[in-house]
Amino acid sequence: MDQENVRITIVYDNRTLEQELKPDWGFACVVDAGAHRLLFDTGTDGSLLLANMRKLGIDPGTVEAIVISHNHWDHTGGLETVVRLCSAKCFIPASAEKDLGARVAKAGGTCVAVSDSIGIWPGVWSTGEMGNGIKEQSLVVETGSGLVLITGCAHPGVVNICSQVKQDFGEPPYLVLGGFHLCHASSEDVKEIIQALKDLGITKAGPGHCTGDQAIEQFRQSWPDGFEQIGCGWNLRIPTTKAQRREDE
Ligand SMILES: [Zn+2]
Ligand SMILES: [Zn+2]
Repeated sequence: MDQENVRITIVYDNRTLEQELKPDWGFACVVDAGAHRLLFDTGTDGSLLLANMRKLGIDPGTVEAIVISHNHWDHTGGLETVVRLCSAKCFIPASAEKDLGARVAKAGGTCVAVSDSIGIWPGVWSTGEMGNGIKEQSLVVETGSGLVLITGCAHPGVVNICSQVKQDFGEPPYLVLGGFHLCHASSEDVKEIIQALKDLGITKAGPGHCTGDQAIEQFRQSWPDGFEQIGCGWNLRIPTTKAQRREDE
């Protein structure tokens, strides 16, 4: 499968890497896979989301699909705003179909209710709904460097999500990024989580959104080789093949 031009751009996060982009509590990320463009989550504030996307040169009207990780306001806030501009096909957690489905329909989009893992395009999948409390889906993107796993809040537990992906895909994610929801975790808990991610064979982690400043700092300090500083404006253009990546290094 041709996986050139896979690009992942964070357009909404609690932190920003670029001064002209506005940080805010929430998360959203654009995935360009070949000719397809997808928006994963929509942040809290629709107009801020559009402003950040446009500053990054991403036309919201070109979004073909929206994947909503879970039904929390800091991930669904911009949903109608974007759907009105692009009439995207929205992949929403089946457990939130009643609420989110009505919002999408009202804005002129269509919905796919996701319960089990499904393919969205070649090389792009939803993990399906996970967790016992608030149900959440995460996104898996195949790249020349390996699998990239993107989480919204990781309410089912970032280690559980990574383990599930390793089991389903036969390899651990190369990179996991997004909200890890460790804002209330003790440093002992964070230490165990970092170790568990390493033990699963994960190479890099980009903790953002609701991970919490303290936990992010702990990732940075105790896993310097694996830590990826993310925030609004972060982007990853992934080399086409593993062989090419080795040449680049
Ligand atoms: Zn949440
Ligand atoms: Zn959140």
